[in-house]
Amino acid sequence: MVAGGLTGAVTATPANAAPSPVDVASCVKPTGALAFRGQRGVHGVDPDTVTRAEARAVQSMLDRPSMRSAGTALPDVVTIPVRAHAIDGTHRADHYISDSKIRASIKVLNDAYAGKQSEESAATRYVFKLTTTSHSRNDHWYHLTPDTKYDHAMKRTLHRGGSTALNLYFVKPPASTGLLGWSSFPWDYAGHPNLDGVVINVGSVPGGSIKDYNLGDTATHEVGHWMGLLHTFSDYGVCEDNDGVDDTPVQRTPSNGCPTGADTCPASPGTDPIHNFMDYSYDSCMYEFTGGQTQRMDQAWAEWRDPS
Ligand SMILES: [Zn+2]
Repeated sequence: MVAGGLTGAVTATPANAAPSPVDVASCVKPTGALAFRGQRGVHGVDPDTVTRAEARAVQSMLDRPSMRSAGTALPDVVTIPVRAHAIDGTHRADHYISDSKIRASIKVLNDAYAGKQSEESAATRYVFKLTTTSHSRNDHWYHLTPDTKYDHAMKRTLHRGGSTALNLYFVKPPASTGLLGWSSFPWDYAGHPNLDGVVINVGSVPGGSIKDYNLGDTATHEVGHWMGLLHTFSDYGVCEDNDGVDDTPVQRTPSNGCPTGADTCPASPGTDPIHNFMDYSYDSCMYEFTGGQTQRMDQAWAEWRDPS
């Protein structure tokens, strides 16, 4: 699922320039990699995010001396305008997400990014403020799946704002996919500005229908990708620290449920970061960002979302 994305030659890319999608015949996807969150145990979910080459290419950019200090000049509070998009289908059982559930989703997001979901969590400088909500009725958009012509058409039609605006789409992917949400990455913004944004399964919002994943932290997780974070198990199946963050323990595979004490990389320090927002645990189990993750968000923000 995650073919496109960054090339190995990206280390030569000048600062602030968007890496190009892989130029190969099989590259039917015009976008870079998307990040997913899916329900565990549901067939058809691709837990992949970025390839190892993509992660390394991004890391090489983040490791530039000029980027190490990026973010230190950011204001204490960065307010992100949220452009919400409620999608409905045409069948009797379909319905728009309510304004109150959109507000509840953004409250969860703000609590998470303020470090308020637990005492262990680092606080970020990012605050989310709902500015507009659009309503659209379209069966293809409502029953959306990632990186399809409908996904692209919806975003090209509805996307509003610039690189610092969070476009948040509420849809209902087919249950068989197990998809909870997906997101673009900030380094793909310049090349595909209208495809930027986060798609959320309406069943995952607070009080939604998807058991164990309905406290609203799918949005927290997906917005983490939108801010430039990778999964804590990014280098899937290998015990290498490929999320590029020093204070998240290395993890071989995503967590399922809330497996206290799990340690899929016993030779590496620390147990699996099952409480981290960028793992795949149940919503009730995930409640923290690390200091390293907030630093990476700041670097990504200064590099790709608000370069000045
Ligand atoms: Zn994810």
